[in-house]
Amino acid sequence: MPLLEGSVGVEDLVLLEPLVEESLLKNLQLRYENKEIYTYIGNVVISVNPYQQLPIYGPEYIAKYQDCTFYELKPHIYALANVAYQSLRDRDQDQCILITGESGSGKTEASKLVMSYVAAVCGKGEQVNSVKEQLLQSNPVLEAFGNAKTIRNNNSSRFGKYMDIEFDFKGSPLGGVITNYLLEKSRVVKQLKGERNFHIFYQLLAGADAQLLKALKLERDTTGYAYLNQETSRVDGMDDASSFSAVQSAMAVIGFSEEEIRQVLEVTALVLKLGNVMVADEFQANGIPASGICDGRGVQEIGELVGLSSEELKRALCSRTMETAKEKVVTALNVMQAQYARDALAKNIYSRLFNWIVNRINENIKVGIGEQKKVMGVLDIYGFEILEDNSFEQFVINYCNEKLQQVFIEMTLKEEQEEYKREGIPWTKVDYFDNGIICNLIEHVTYNVTSFIDKNNDLLFRDLSQAMWKAQHPLIRSLFPEGNPKQASLKRPPTAGAQFKSSVAILMKNLYSKNPNYIRCIKPNEHQQRGQFSSDLVATQAQYLGLLENVRVRRAGYAYRQGYGPFLERYRLLSRSTWPRWNGGDREGAEKVLGELSISSGELAFGKTKIFIRSPRTLFYLEEQRRLR
Ligand code: ATP
Ligand code: MG
Repeated sequence: MPLLEGSVGVEDLVLLEPLVEESLLKNLQLRYENKEIYTYIGNVVISVNPYQQLPIYGPEYIAKYQDCTFYELKPHIYALANVAYQSLRDRDQDQCILITGESGSGKTEASKLVMSYVAAVCGKGEQVNSVKEQLLQSNPVLEAFGNAKTIRNNNSSRFGKYMDIEFDFKGSPLGGVITNYLLEKSRVVKQLKGERNFHIFYQLLAGADAQLLKALKLERDTTGYAYLNQETSRVDGMDDASSFSAVQSAMAVIGFSEEEIRQVLEVTALVLKLGNVMVADEFQANGIPASGICDGRGVQEIGELVGLSSEELKRALCSRTMETAKEKVVTALNVMQAQYARDALAKNIYSRLFNWIVNRINENIKVGIGEQKKVMGVLDIYGFEILEDNSFEQFVINYCNEKLQQVFIEMTLKEEQEEYKREGIPWTKVDYFDNGIICNLIEHVTYNVTSFIDKNNDLLFRDLSQAMWKAQHPLIRSLFPEGNPKQASLKRPPTAGAQFKSSVAILMKNLYSKNPNYIRCIKPNEHQQRGQFSSDLVATQAQYLGLLENVRVRRAGYAYRQGYGPFLERYRLLSRSTWPRWNGGDREGAEKVLGELSISSGELAFGKTKIFIRSPRTLFYLEEQRRLR
């Protein structure tokens, strides 16, 4: 546990002197340049994206961290995962791992490290291993359908994800539940310059064999598809074809039947083909412009793919039925409206498919009701982003991040207070964290409000959902239950915004009921490049993550705390009473050491299980003494 400022900076920012932004940034940079990407603030892990594979993961490292207490080894996500898992297993405390940071900072990778660590250390046996496999294999499936290349991140999560992993009383995994939040479905029909649609479309075209492509009525060439961005179809270092087979086998491991996998691919193909349905002007008998479909073959093929008459589909895309109390009126849509209807249909099919996939995974990994279980939740939400054109999606993403920041602040303070209380040490009031920065970000950024209303209004024309419900394809049909005329109600569903707000509220409640563990991810540069550390960019992130305030809270009372056992183990060589032999208790031993060094009693507080040290200087002094021996 080298705590002194050496060549790689301090491992815990609580020990930073002087505690100012500049030294905090310098410390992170120094560590980053030495490939030390993890740094603590107490029990919070800061992770700076290395953009390269470091040799600090895998079975050997997992084994090391498994046998150690938190501060014994270098800061690592494994150390955090280990503490969380052990408290869950041995102290029956439900845990949550909250991973925050902006797009491209490494949240998803961090969540996978946590999952693979926990999978490696929890339980053994065939049954348990198959549960682990299912849980781990949910990642490639969800990433294929929910991630995309953006200008910030080649593998950007375009949905929020919260996963509860459930364990039995011994700490063996039983299964889990995944909750997904608002997929960025506008991406299905349109992408920014330099971005791609969801990975699965490219994976399917690149990886399907000729026979499958033919069955899905697809062409291998991406340039033929209006919904696929024409300039960006390949991503450096990404092998779409091999990902496709990985996704298929992952689905099989999770428990999707062959038939289900085929149906999922058919629906994916349907979305692609829908983008190519051309709508053009036609004129009604009275000369009023209306839309017509000019690509008859495309519609025909879509019809064949999902068992739907092409007439039915054309009608649904080009006209709209209004129902009044007395009569039904069918009006023709103009070209703009018909294109809008087509795109709305594609977006809806895809996002409902995504939800369906999540539900199917959940059915496969769910734990029987009534079983006693302990829970570890892992939250990997889409990162805060500010784009030139900020739309409804960005608003939603940022809203969620702000909420999480609130949770962080409240829980950090609460946790500090509780630890003091547990240890029987009087609480010193600290100034509240400043959440103003992130609120300001949300308030001052301009959002493009024109499309807000559109995206916030999920109502799909009834003609379209009814047409989908008439399809023979079981999956498509099941995605549009409201298309069943017997069930159709005129009640508007809650808007996407309202739904999202309430699901965030449920999430927050869930998080508050668990013991939190934080990973704060930082993106070191805008170019997805290894070895580059842009201080300005990191400074902004450090500000809205409130790192400095976090350190201040953490050391407002006592900068450092450690269980008596580990403390004595480390410093007993400083006292003749405790070295080389000590037969007394840990606490008495610690008192002996500190007494002999004449450390002023104002610097110390003896808690029930831990020693508390007020200023970092005292700790430096101890370390210094240790080095001199
Ligand atoms: P988004 O909010 O856009 O989903 P994110 O925070 O989830 O972003 P990741 O997808 O986890 O970001 O990370 C982006 C990329 O950075 C990864 O694809 C990987 O190349 C690299 N990366 C992140 N963490 C690590 C790590 N610990 N080791 C090596 N590379 C990493
Ligand atoms: Mg991600």
